[in-house]
This record gives sequence, structure tokens and C-alpha cells, in this order.
Amino acid sequence: MEQLAGPLAPIFTRPRCLEHQAGHHHPEAPARLRAVLDRVRTVDPGALREGSRDPLEAIRRVHPDAYLDRLAAVAAAGGGRLDPDTVMNAWSWEAALGSTEAALSALDSALVGVPAFAAIRPPGHHALREASMGFCLLGTAVIVAREAQALGRGRVLIVDWDVHHGNGTQALIEADPTIRFVSMHQWPHWPFSGAAEERGVGNVFNVPMRAGLPPDRYVAAFWEAVVTATADFPPELIVVSAGFDSMAGDLLGGFTLEPEHYTAWVDRIRTRFPSVPVVALMEGGYIPARLADGVVAVAAALR
Ligand SMILES: [Zn+2]
Repeated sequence: MEQLAGPLAPIFTRPRCLEHQAGHHHPEAPARLRAVLDRVRTVDPGALREGSRDPLEAIRRVHPDAYLDRLAAVAAAGGGRLDPDTVMNAWSWEAALGSTEAALSALDSALVGVPAFAAIRPPGHHALREASMGFCLLGTAVIVAREAQALGRGRVLIVDWDVHHGNGTQALIEADPTIRFVSMHQWPHWPFSGAAEERGVGNVFNVPMRAGLPPDRYVAAFWEAVVTATADFPPELIVVSAGFDSMAGDLLGGFTLEPEHYTAWVDRIRTRFPSVPVVALMEGGYIPARLADGVVAVAAALR
């Protein structure tokens, strides 16, 4: 098992994740990841790792080749707008591949007993099987879950505390009882899916919540859903879609969370599931300094 010296769990990234740009004034900007990496270098430079895993086989379990070819072609042509919110430049395809590499390397770490974080962009939880959506190109959390299943982990729990519903993750797994999905999100809010009645095949647990509530309400509701989702489903891997736009003051959401609340969730996850591998993937979070606060809190709690 890896010996860790510093205060943070391993944080996997790829430099090419900084090259993806969706245009000036787009909130999903390189400054987000740069702030995270700068903070990690200050707190625990030894925690940073480069993802090194060839991601294509894993990606192809989730997305058809025609869609992947289209993404590669848009990048090769210098970029372009894929949907109202999602824009690629010439490096966006490489950034999406790099995000998946880092996420899979974080999975590998978790599977040998060292919980890990993937500091990546673009995010993933809105991506559909054959379409981008909401800044997302590839369904990274589901790619990681399917890879773990290919490596023998049968039951996977994906938990998503981003302020937006993880509609892409839900769409990719809602017919599959081997993956359970808990998403807490602001309601009503973009993308306007994620009602509590959306249950998949009994494997989807949505927690729609109003904006502006005291943080303890969010902490309790999310945890209650995790407990419910796992009552008859002992997970063999836990994937966290760690979005930090659920923090107080975010540009794109109205939740009220602080770093200590993410710490509390990770602590509860690790206490309740002490021998289950945990891998956390960066999703949203649009105030770079706050995003860095959140990532460091989670990486410290994973340590
Ligand atoms: Zn979000």
C-alpha cells in the first residue's frame, strides 16, 4: 500500500485539463482547476499525481464510437459549440481524455486501499450517451463505475452532491440495478430533472431541495438518502461526483454548504463503509478559491 506523508489523499490530474477553454466569461474556466492545483501545491505538493491510464476502452463501455469520433473531429477542426452551454476548443477532446485518465488512475488507487480524488475538467455528470450537455463531454462517474465492474466490483454506489441534478449519470444507469445513484440538487433548477419520483429500476435516489436552507438540512437529507440507498445494497465501490457549486455563494447555485459539510459527508461515508474503496471526481464549483477550499477539505477527509 502507498505510504502517504502529507495531509491529503492522492489527487490525480492531467495538465491538458487546463487547456480546455469554452470561451471568455464561461464559468467553467481553466482558472478553476488552476486554483485547485495551486492550493494543493501549497498544502501538500506530494499529493499531486498524474493520471496515466489509457482511457479509451473504459470510455467505449459508456459512449458509442460515433459520438467520440464527433468530439475528436470538432477538436481537430479547432473547436465549436456543441449545445447552448458546452463549447469545445482544439484541446477539449484531449482534456476530456485526460480527465478520464486521471479518474481511472484515482480508481486504481482506491482499489488498492488508498482513497483518491481526481481534480479534472471538463466535468461529467450531465453528459448523455451520445450528447454533450451542461459543460460536460463524457460521463466520467459512470465510466469509472463500469471500469470497476469490469475489474470485479459488482455493486457500485454513485453519490452526487453537485448543486445540479446529475441527469447524465442517471440516464446512463437508470436501467441498471447493479449501480445505485444518489443525487441531491437544487429544485427547481437547471436541468429541471431529478424529481424524487424518478426512481429508475429502483436504483435512483433523487433528493431535490430548495435553495437557501440551513446547511444542516442538506447534510441530513443527503445522508438519509445514502443510508436508504445502501440498506439492501452493500456497495463494493463508492464514486463521489464532487461538485462544489453547492457551496454558499456559488455563481450557479443557491445552496449554503461550507467545506466542513463535505468533510462531514466523507467522514460518514468512511465510517459506515470502512472497507469500501472511495474515489471522488471534481464536477462543478464556479468560484475558484471556494472550489479549492472544497477540494482540499474532501482530499483531507479521504486521507
Ligand atoms: Zn453543477
